[in-house]
Amino acid sequence: MGKLASTGIQKSEGLAIIRIRIWIFHILSLGILFVPVNAQIVTWTIITFFIRVFAWEAGSHRYFSHRSFKTSRAFQLFLAVLAAASGQRGPIWWAQHHRHHHRESDKPDDPHSPIHRGYWFAHFGWLMDERYIDTDLDAVKDLAKYAELVWVNKYHYIFPYIVLIFTFILGQYTAVFGDTGLGVSAIFWVFIFSTMLSAQSTFSVNTLTHGIKASLFNHRRFTTDDSTTNSWLMCIPSMGASWHNNHHRYMNSARAGFYWWQLDLAYLVLKLLSIFRIVWDLHPVPIHILEEGRHAPDSQNIIAE
Ligand SMILES: [Zn+2]
Ligand SMILES: [Zn+2]
Repeated sequence: MGKLASTGIQKSEGLAIIRIRIWIFHILSLGILFVPVNAQIVTWTIITFFIRVFAWEAGSHRYFSHRSFKTSRAFQLFLAVLAAASGQRGPIWWAQHHRHHHRESDKPDDPHSPIHRGYWFAHFGWLMDERYIDTDLDAVKDLAKYAELVWVNKYHYIFPYIVLIFTFILGQYTAVFGDTGLGVSAIFWVFIFSTMLSAQSTFSVNTLTHGIKASLFNHRRFTTDDSTTNSWLMCIPSMGASWHNNHHRYMNSARAGFYWWQLDLAYLVLKLLSIFRIVWDLHPVPIHILEEGRHAPDSQNIIAE
C-alpha cells in the first residue's frame, strides 16, 4: 500500500462509476419485492439503518465536519470506517463539502441549496456532478494530517463491499436472520435497502430543511441568514440531524436538538459513549443561544428568494 498524498486534490473514482453506483443502488432496492422476507430480516434492516444514520450523522457530520466532540485516534478511525461502510463515500470528502455548505449556505455557491440549484440537484444530483466528487485535502488540513483517514477516504468503496459479503455469509450460513439460506434476502434488505434509506435520510435533510416554508412540519426557531427550518417529522429517521435550523445557528455543538423536547438520538448515543469515555468533551450549546431560541417566535416564515 503506497503512501497517499495528504495535500492537494485527492481524486475520486471515475464519475461514471459514481453515477452507475447511485442509480443501480436505488434500482436494486426494488429487489426487496421479489425475495423472501421475515420479521428478523426486517428488524435487522431497521437496526442497520440506524447504525448507518449514526455513522454519517455522528461520524461524518458532528465529528469530522464540525469536531463537536473529542475521541481517541482509534475510535476516530472506527468512525471513519463505519462512515465509509455506510455508503456515503469518504468522511474527509463528506466533511470538506459539508463545511463548504455551511460557509455558503443557501448562497449561489452552496453545492446543494434547493433554492439555487433546484430540488433534485440539491437532493442527489450534486453527488453525481464532476465539481463535487474529489476531495480538496488542503481545505480540511485538520483531518488530512491523519494518514489512515486519508487512506479510508481514498478507498472508501472497499468497506461497503466487505459489509455486503459479510451480510451474505450471515444470511446464508447462520441463523441470525431466522434461518439459513437467506443470503440473497439479507443482501437486498439488510444491505441494499437499508443503505438506500439511510442515504435518502441524509439527502432529505438537505432538501426538507432548506428551502421549505415554515409549516406544521417545519419551523424556524432562529433567525439565520439562510432558509433552514427544524423538521420534527424527520427527527427520528435522521437521528436528530433535522433540527437543522438550530444547527445552522450554532454548528459546533454535539447536539442538534437544543431542548429536551427536540429528540436527538445521535446525541443520546454520544452521551452514552461518553459515560464509557469512548468520546468526551461533547461541545455544549452556549446558554445565550438557548435563551435566544426560547424567546423566538416559533414559526418565522422567512425564506431566501
Ligand atoms: Zn444545511
Ligand atoms: Zn453541519
